[in-house]
Amino acid sequence: MKETEVTSTCCYCGVGCGVKIQLDKHNTVTVIGDEEHPVNRGKLCSKGMNLQYTVNDKSDRLLYPQMRYHRNMPMQRVSWEDALTRTAAVFRTMIDKYGPDAVAFYASGQCLTEEYYVINKLIKGFIGSNNIDTNSRLCMSSAVAAYKMVLGEDSVPICYDDIELSDCFLVEGANPAWCHPILWRRVEAHKANHPDTKIIVVDPRKTDSAAIADLHLQIQPGTDMVLNYAIGRMLIEQDAIDNHFIAHHTEGFEDYKARVFERTVTEAAHICRIPEYEIRQAATYISESKTLLTMWTMGLNQSVKGVDKNLSLINLNLITGKIGKPGSGPFSLTGQPNAMGGREVGGLANLLPAHRDLKNEAHRQEVADFWGGTTLSDKPGLTATEMFEALADGKLKAVWILCTNPLTSLPDTRTVEQALEKAKFVVVQEISNKPQTLAYADVILPAAAWAEKEGTMTNSERRISHLHKIIDPPGEALPDAEIICRFAKKMGFAGFEYPNTEAIYKEHTRLTARTNLHIEGLDYTKIDKHKTIQWPYNKRRKTGTTRLFTDHDFYTPSRKAIIHSPDTDLHSELPDTAFPFILTTGRIRDQWHTMSKTGKVSKLKQHISESQLEIHREDAERLGVTEGQLVEITSRRGNVRVKASLSTSIKPGCVFLPMHWGKLGDTDLHRANNLTNPLLDPISKEPDFKFCAVQVVPYEKP
Ligand code: SF4
Repeated sequence: MKETEVTSTCCYCGVGCGVKIQLDKHNTVTVIGDEEHPVNRGKLCSKGMNLQYTVNDKSDRLLYPQMRYHRNMPMQRVSWEDALTRTAAVFRTMIDKYGPDAVAFYASGQCLTEEYYVINKLIKGFIGSNNIDTNSRLCMSSAVAAYKMVLGEDSVPICYDDIELSDCFLVEGANPAWCHPILWRRVEAHKANHPDTKIIVVDPRKTDSAAIADLHLQIQPGTDMVLNYAIGRMLIEQDAIDNHFIAHHTEGFEDYKARVFERTVTEAAHICRIPEYEIRQAATYISESKTLLTMWTMGLNQSVKGVDKNLSLINLNLITGKIGKPGSGPFSLTGQPNAMGGREVGGLANLLPAHRDLKNEAHRQEVADFWGGTTLSDKPGLTATEMFEALADGKLKAVWILCTNPLTSLPDTRTVEQALEKAKFVVVQEISNKPQTLAYADVILPAAAWAEKEGTMTNSERRISHLHKIIDPPGEALPDAEIICRFAKKMGFAGFEYPNTEAIYKEHTRLTARTNLHIEGLDYTKIDKHKTIQWPYNKRRKTGTTRLFTDHDFYTPSRKAIIHSPDTDLHSELPDTAFPFILTTGRIRDQWHTMSKTGKVSKLKQHISESQLEIHREDAERLGVTEGQLVEITSRRGNVRVKASLSTSIKPGCVFLPMHWGKLGDTDLHRANNLTNPLLDPISKEPDFKFCAVQVVPYEKP
């Protein structure tokens, strides 16, 4: 390795590809795939291959702290001392006057583990509120809740090497060909080498992932559970279940059997709007395979039935006993690069560090004693959407937003704008001067970007990697963890005097002692020595743990996995005559989240350069809409105006919009979330991004 070269991890998706970052004498960065990295072996997708452009282009970077005393005043450059002194004074006043729940932090699945850790410690351990949530709430919280209900803890059982060991993939509500490309390439290569491997894709759209499937079940949106129960019924009827595993290692099978037999396969096919033989074929593929890897992401998670959908899919692993074995298990694909790290430190409104339970008094005391702060509150904090509702109705006074752009990514975004307008005090900690949130800020804090700071991330398979810094941040920008620690000290809290980032990491690992995600003793040197390491890591597992539950000893009180059998009633906003189409939203291949990084790279616009509405040709013809014509899409919450892209890949009656575009200049008419629904899953509080009722009409200029 050259002296001016460090290893790191791609900061986009949860696949967690390894990269090498090189710096030349002109301070220009080059990024290449790391050939020794176990995840990607040197390969990168289009986003990863263009990472250096986002680092080298500093034209949009925030360079120094700014603040203002009234929203109608311009922002003024201030020192870090002034910015943090004022912010601490305002937070102190709010807390003294209204209580600790008057303030909140809204962070991101792109934060490093150390950053998550100190924010969580600050608000839960010292301010005394659980009002910390992140945009991971919008993508992974349904899977987190489902894992806990089934396995006893939020523990992804599989490893990526299970891909090459599997002979059957059931991919539901995910398009990894676009959203987790390097992982999908491993699936494609495996299929090419082993053509008998079966790939079943369940998606209302014929995606690039579905294109290589042996079977594409193009179901009606929202009917995943009906399909999963029908497959479960068929597996029971064919006696293709593992009776020994069910008897010894699960609970709830009899209720499940009763549930899946409530509906015939014919009835299920009718509800899912697919031919019955496709369901039978899916069940046959699964029953004839030795393994089963169930893969899913936002299509299941982002739903009012998100947790229940997860449960219905994981059940297929449980009734076939295909979990904790090579090539088998439930495999939730993480959207963001460090959503998993956030979950480890308990960085959500309802979690505590190392999978401890907020409702458990002994767990709260254990964490409080470790941090040496006050007693931890037992009241769950506000989740992402609840936080902005609480700002709107005045219950929440101050919010600190870091590393995320809620004015593009939250549902019903125009209402979120109104909430931020009403907020008494808004802090925005950002790298870029582009996010719309800056217009609502009272204080702006410039943050260091990827490659400008050190820390760790954990990918979708529990693999921890160490990200090295290679360049200094521009201007006065600081690493996020340092900003939070400086603020905590300004608030007068002890316990934030870390000499370096690794000291934060070591403290985090000590808090995992005697827990199932044990990583006590791990430090940056040890991670580097192993290149990466999968938790748990302990004396018995000195090289980490590739696969969980190989002994079928689950983390539930009974040590058995729990089969849950919720009903399939859909509580989404159903289409009607006024709003006859179902809108689903999602990612496109070459953009990332709200485009604050990928939007700077012109190459990445070559794939899809603007937001477009995907609509089935038959629907378009009926509406008199032609290719590229401007259409107006309206829901009960707002409107969007984009060109139509005619397709036969989407289910008739459904339309699709990418979620990346926000407000551009004065117009917000490309922002998909003007339309989406604030309905939430009752357990995970994840929004129903994949389902709301809209109308589509050709747009003619007045
Ligand atoms: Fe980065 Fe994900 Fe692409 Fe890998 S697959 S290079 S982690 S965006």
